[in-house]
Amino acid sequence: MAHIGWFGRKSKSARKIARQSVDALPDGLWTKCPKCNEILFNRELEKNLRVCSKCNYHFRYRASERIAATVDEGSFEEFADDLKSANPLGFPDYETKLEADVAKTGIRDPMVIGRARIGSCPVVIGVADFAFRGASMGGVYGEKVVRAVETAIEERRPLIMFCASGGARMQEGILSLMQMAKTSAAIARLHDAGLPYIVVLTDPTTAGVHASFASIGDVIIAEPGALIGFAGERVAQQAGVVNRPPNFQRSEFQLDNGMVDIVATRKELRQTLIKLLEFCTGEVADVI
Ligand SMILES: [Zn+2]
Repeated sequence: MAHIGWFGRKSKSARKIARQSVDALPDGLWTKCPKCNEILFNRELEKNLRVCSKCNYHFRYRASERIAATVDEGSFEEFADDLKSANPLGFPDYETKLEADVAKTGIRDPMVIGRARIGSCPVVIGVADFAFRGASMGGVYGEKVVRAVETAIEERRPLIMFCASGGARMQEGILSLMQMAKTSAAIARLHDAGLPYIVVLTDPTTAGVHASFASIGDVIIAEPGALIGFAGERVAQQAGVVNRPPNFQRSEFQLDNGMVDIVATRKELRQTLIKLLEFCTGEVADVI
């Protein structure tokens, strides 16, 4: 029996025993929440869509997990999955790094695109996977965003983009920056075609991706606590931005400042998308 003090605080020995018992667990069984330090069993964490049950911290989600949690079961058909980055500038070690990320993640590029159904509504969906090169946007990433748009226009489907990115892909230089204009122009064509474009910003959506297709959705949803902005907190600090509120550049801050329309938890996201799609396709029901 652990020794509990008069005021409910665990004694030092009880805390030590608790720490030792956690340390004694085999690796891969539990994860410590970086926000509240709660020890979370991985099986429970997976069941809870990788959200901390104590403080609602949203862990990063892989593209495959996101697709499984969002679309109607068995409806996802990936396309353009054979595209992979070249090394147009001859950047040292770039191919090796790409190969390592392909082996680690099982995908060829951080942007995964496909057709799917959400609440029976046919859509085109794109999901960025931060585990691959920090979901940085290179030529293939941009090309896949454009192909998703072209398919949406051709098949008269709404487009849903789950965004994440550390920014433009350094190793592809100006070709990466060019993707900002290329993807934004494609979204303008989607808009001209009268099709809905729903964006979901996840942690983190920053720099070149935020400054292009991620911030021009008809409806912009964000997961709680996601870092959203052009430059991150560290850069803002170095640039001398003073009086930053505690939630500076987080989803809730961006909601208060009009950059985000809805903050939805991961559990609410699918239903939120279904409601929005019902609303939007009611408007364009004759063409879908
Ligand atoms: Zn937590």
